[in-house]
Amino acid sequence: MKTDSVEYTTFSGWVDPPGNVQSPLSEDVTCEVAVIGGGLAGMSTALRLAERDRDVVLLEAEFCGHGSASRSAGQVAGAPGGDIQLLSMLYPRRFPGIVRFAENSAHFLERLIERLDIDCDYEATGNVCAAVSRGQMGRVRRVTKLLRKAGADVELGTSAELGIPRGFLGGMRESVGGMMNPGKFSLGIRRAVLTSGARVFERTHVTEVTPNGDHVVIRTPGGEVRAKKVVLATNAFGGELAIAPKRLSVPIWVSEVETEPIDPARLAALRWTSRSGVVTQHNIMENYRLTSRNTIVFGVRRLQRGKNYPLPPRKPDEAVVADLARAFETRFPALADVAAARTWGGWVAITPSWLPVAGQTRDGVYYSVACNGHGLAQAPYVGSLIADLIVDGEQHEDLKTLWAKKPTFPRPLMMSAAGLRTIWTVDRFNDLFNGSRRNARRGSAPVN
Ligand SMILES: Cc1cc2nc3c(=O)[nH]c(=O)nc-3n(C[C@H](O)[C@H](O)[C@H](O)COP(=O)(O)OP(=O)(O)OC[C@H]3O[C@@H](n4cnc5c(N)ncnc54)[C@H](O)[C@@H]3O)c2cc1C
Repeated sequence: MKTDSVEYTTFSGWVDPPGNVQSPLSEDVTCEVAVIGGGLAGMSTALRLAERDRDVVLLEAEFCGHGSASRSAGQVAGAPGGDIQLLSMLYPRRFPGIVRFAENSAHFLERLIERLDIDCDYEATGNVCAAVSRGQMGRVRRVTKLLRKAGADVELGTSAELGIPRGFLGGMRESVGGMMNPGKFSLGIRRAVLTSGARVFERTHVTEVTPNGDHVVIRTPGGEVRAKKVVLATNAFGGELAIAPKRLSVPIWVSEVETEPIDPARLAALRWTSRSGVVTQHNIMENYRLTSRNTIVFGVRRLQRGKNYPLPPRKPDEAVVADLARAFETRFPALADVAAARTWGGWVAITPSWLPVAGQTRDGVYYSVACNGHGLAQAPYVGSLIADLIVDGEQHEDLKTLWAKKPTFPRPLMMSAAGLRTIWTVDRFNDLFNGSRRNARRGSAPVN
């Protein structure tokens, strides 16, 4: 794969920034609820509150959708992220609730797209957790059993049975969910928020959140907001604000690459008939998906730890793009001559438990911050549930599943730069040892 003419972008490859960025806050205002952060979580919270006739202010440092909201791979997962075997072992009682939450998130998203009539190229294809080696196939079988037992809608099959390229041996399809253009989706929600009753201030960086008796004061360079309630929806950027719970999440940079447009006949030859998005079973996944513009978007494989707040704007590293391109050639040997056209990345928030978390700080500030790189459906769902909690005073069952009883979190394991490099090395060693390159050439393997 050629990578010498790749366009590196600091925003997203899916869409251009909006042309109507809103004015920053330039005076002191009061409101009932202030939402900090205009990603999917924050926009969804603000929209729901406005729809329920609450006086809400949304404060966003750049423009709504500027963060990972518009930068994701656009794969709408219907099952939890992370290591399913580990999660089911560590949280046996909560696990079925987490599975239900993941499926409900995907359904919520589908209803939202329909209700707001957002044109985001959504296709309900499901996603496949795919194996590139016999070892990974064993893992997929075990994961399928665990998810089925917890009530998930998943099926096991060979690559031929699942309609995915023969560079993968087989896998497990999550029937719920699919794929979309996440840039179009976040700009669609942004449009809905801007036309709702919410007051939206963009280019408004919140620098401090201070509880003060029966209200909270939010400082920004242009003015203060005095709110009765506050929702922190700052995702990976959360650690910048002193009010955010310590160690709630670690900021991690992940990258995506998009190919040049590929001849439809060559795409058809891949026999990717289900069009399902694919994620591998490595410790750090590789993701692959088709797009409506006849390209393939692929990424992750490498997690890079953010060091200090504020998190800087950045582009993917050349070495990471080259590594992703090597993986692409292995999974799609017939497309080895296709060039990479563009690349982008974004910050995700990884929690010490690898579970999505929501809760309240000791000062009563709500937070919905971390979906561990699976927030395309989960972040807006949690945001909407927090809005309902604020209005009704009652927690939905799915919110209860995620709710942190206390805002205290353990030190995250294996999240140092050295730890993350070690995990990448283990994955590459397993690729070599299990012959993922050889398997890619051979194709489909028996499932049982
Ligand atoms: C490259 C990449 C690929 C991904 N692929 C997938 C995928 O295929 N499927 C999936 O489910 N998930 C995926 N994700 C994860 C998903 O995008 C995120 O989990 C989800 O978008 C996070 O929620 P959010 O949208 O609320 O966060 P963000 O979009 O990051 O929103 C946070 C917002 O808060 C604002 N903000 C932060 N601090 C302040 C402050 N102090 N003042 C004002 N504003 C502030 C930021 O500017 C930002 O706009 C991916 C993420 C990345 C980066």
